This record gives sequence, C-alpha cells and structure tokens, in this order.
Amino acid sequence: MSTSGADDVREVIIIGSGPSGLTAAIYAARANLTPLVIEGETVGTDQPGGQLMLTTEVENFPGFIDGIMGPELMASMRAQAARFGAEFLTRRVTRVDLRSSPKRVWVDDLEFLARSVIVSTGARALMLGLEAERRLMGYGVSTCATCDGFFFRRRDIVVVGGGDSALEEASFLTKFGETVTVVHRRKELRASKIMQDRAFANPKIRFAFDSVVSDIVGDAKVEAVILTNTVSGETTTLPCAAVFVAIGHTPTTDLFVGHLDRDDNGYLLTHDGTRTNIPGVFACGDVVDHTYRQAITAAGMGCMAAIDAERWLESVDAPGGESPTEW
Ligand code: NAP
Repeated sequence: MSTSGADDVREVIIIGSGPSGLTAAIYAARANLTPLVIEGETVGTDQPGGQLMLTTEVENFPGFIDGIMGPELMASMRAQAARFGAEFLTRRVTRVDLRSSPKRVWVDDLEFLARSVIVSTGARALMLGLEAERRLMGYGVSTCATCDGFFFRRRDIVVVGGGDSALEEASFLTKFGETVTVVHRRKELRASKIMQDRAFANPKIRFAFDSVVSDIVGDAKVEAVILTNTVSGETTTLPCAAVFVAIGHTPTTDLFVGHLDRDDNGYLLTHDGTRTNIPGVFACGDVVDHTYRQAITAAGMGCMAAIDAERWLESVDAPGGESPTEW
C-alpha cells in the first residue's frame, strides 16, 4: 500500500472499520475506488472492527442461521473488502482538513489526500468516571465480557447498567462466573423484554436495583464494589473479582469538531442520505445513528455512504455535474 501520501490523491478514504466502514469499503472497492481504510488501533475501547469486536454471539445479523461471533463477522467483512482491493492502515487518524481540495487526513506526520471521505468512526463505551475504575481497568474492570470473562471463572462478577448491553454481558458472563450481579440505578430495566426474560430466568444472575457503584475496592485488582442505594443512601460492600461497565456509548467525533455539524450529543448530522455539511464528506453507522445502533443498520448505512460517494465523484467529474464545493 502507498502510505507515502501527499501527491497520491485517492478517490476515497474511509475512517473507521466497524460494520459501516467495512461495508462502505466493500462497496467502494467493488466500484473500483480503491478505498484506503484507516481502521484505528487498539487503544482503550476503540479497536479495528468496532464494537462487535467486544461482543460474543450475534444472533440477529441476517444470513447466519446459528449466529456468528462478533469478531469472526468483522474479520470476514474485512477480508471481503480486502479481496476487492480495499487497503488498510492500522493506525488512528489524528487530524483532518475536510474543507481543502483534495481533503487532507493525517496519521501523526503522515498525510493522506482524497477527493472524498467517509466517516465511520462509531461510538465508544461510556464509563462511570470513578478514579478506581481508571486505575483498575484491565485488572478486573472491563468493558468487554468477550475479552475478559474467561479470566473470572468461578468468581463473583458485577455488571453495571440496565440496558440490553448489560443483560447481554451478564448472560454471557454466567458461562464463567459463580454469580453475576447486575447493578442498575433504577428499579425498571431499560433492556428489551426478551433480554429481561432471559436474565430473570438465569439462576446465576442477581439484581441490585436502585443502586449505583459508588466505588471499586482493590489496590492491584478488583476485590469489591461499594454500592450506594439511590433511594435510602445506604452503602453496602459487595465482594467481587470483576466489574463490567455496560452503561451505553458516546460517538467518536472529537476529530471533527469545527468541521462537521453534530447534534447536542455529538452525533454527526447528515442530510440527503449520508451527506454531511461538507461536500464530498459522508458519514455512516453509529457515529450518526443513536436510534437503531445495530450492526445491520450500520452496514446498511455504510453501503449508502459508498454509493453516495461514488455518485458524487461521478457527478463532479461529469460536464454540468455537481460542484465539488457546494452540495
Ligand atoms: P442503553 O440502552 O443506553 O442503556 C444504558 C444503561 O446504563 C441504562 O440502563 C442506564 O440507566 C445505565 N446508565 C447510563 N449511565 C449510567 C451511569 N453513569 N451509572 C449507572 N448506570 C448508567 O445502552 P446499551 O445497553 O449499551 O444499548 C444501546 C443500544 O444497543 C440499545 O438500543 C440496545 O437495544 C442495543 N443493543 C441491542 C442488543 C441486542 O439486541 N442483542 C445488545 C446490546 C445493545 P437508565 O436506564 O436509568 O438510563
């Protein structure tokens, strides 16, 4: 792959490599646009392949009767894109200038130029914000049951959150843990009915309702959590070896502040399909979508973004076509 950069103007650069970015890469590659996918690198909860790298079985992605493991699905998507000529750089974009022509994308000092850019940077896991949570990350605190559940065989485990993610993590963790206690700040779970039914029917799962994890105890590893009851204010200590935080996500859009329009929660705003406010820049997947947030919807949007980019490039090149500087 040419990573030298500056004089090599690509048709499209795709930033991010979850289901949306990789689907965009498959479509763009099959349209002979030879996309460069800058896929990210493993730092904290950002990783090439996106959030499905942190999940276990995916049962609702069409085409897999018996389900498929998230990482396996992402490896297949990546290989499929590569088969059609997509190129990959396992680095993190550090700076962009999307208004210039061509558009400029930097990975540290390495500069890449492209006529169009597809943003598919996804979303990342939210954290509780406790000092001990940061200190003990990787030492019992985790956001990824798939990655870390195995380390806590026959141990007591805590999962924080009341949504589908929390219950999915909890169910998976019962394969390893002696007990799994779901700590939720309210009495009513946010998770879907089917996930609730499964969790309630699982004898290893317990619930601490109306409770928050106000601290995590342990010097070198997690030994317990301090639970504070949100109604009575009472605190209790719950011994455990692991705390899995599953309280939702935030879009990865810091890179685009001042460039791309965002909503109040930081999600990128699009119009007419996947167009952003800057001509030639398209956005897709969880970085845009806070409603559906599914692999299949992200993949669908990735397909849309690639088709939108291809059509825009064609139109800009055609006599009397679109202006490269105005939508
Ligand atoms: P979510 O639906 O936003 O739920 C987040 C949960 O964490 C909520 O119960 C929330 O409490 C709690 N929470 C948030 N901040 C907290 C804090 N600081 N301290 C304590 N608790 C906190 O997020 P999610 O579970 O990650 O799901 C996101 C989306 O993905 C949903 O649409 C979900 O349906 C979907 N999803 C689907 C599947 C599946 O179908 N297999 C699996 C995972 C996710 P409150 O309820 O009080 O707000």
